Amino acid sequence: MEIITQELPPIGTNAVLLLDQTRKEAVLIDAPEGAHAWAVQKSQEHNCELIALVLTHGHWDHILDAHKMAAEEIPIYAHPADQPLYTSPERMASFALPGIDLIPVPVNHWIEDGAELQLLGQTLQIRHVPGHCPGNILIYCEEHNFAAVGDAIFAGSVGRYDLPGGDGPLLMDSIRQQIYTLPDDTTLYPGHGPTTTVGKEKTSNPFVRGDATS
Ligand SMILES: [Zn+2]
Repeated sequence: MEIITQELPPIGTNAVLLLDQTRKEAVLIDAPEGAHAWAVQKSQEHNCELIALVLTHGHWDHILDAHKMAAEEIPIYAHPADQPLYTSPERMASFALPGIDLIPVPVNHWIEDGAELQLLGQTLQIRHVPGHCPGNILIYCEEHNFAAVGDAIFAGSVGRYDLPGGDGPLLMDSIRQQIYTLPDDTTLYPGHGPTTTVGKEKTSNPFVRGDATS
């Protein structure tokens, strides 16, 4: 499997594309502005077809292009706790950039903690990581040693928990229980900024350390 990422407008949100050139299939994780065109182009370059979109959570900057996948009948996967954001994204207008079109996302597959997606010949494990928002998930691939974590944790930081539906103590618990329990050498792909690893964050993240005392 090949993994490529792209930071996209309007506020620098990462899209992650998983490509399997043997199966000729690709899976996109998150859909910021321009993600559809980028993912289709990269898939074609790799002789792959885009077969699924998995959304880490329902915040506006991660879902702007999702309706374009839906128009092409590409299945969309997301956690039900963010269903209000997918069905009525205009409720995020007060914290989105002004003038942005917030278009509902028709999620086809609601996936909860413990779900296992069989995609690209891989088992993608879903873990629920609430706190940044109610429906943030991570997508973990044990075989290839990575997890896409949405906005739960960043390199040296954590997601905001002051937005509607956010909960700081819950986020810290989520990170300890659902992220810090992954193998230390797991590469983390956050929704913003550079990649990191579980081990690096456990020892140096100033907001949530790997030991039980902080
Ligand atoms: Zn977010």
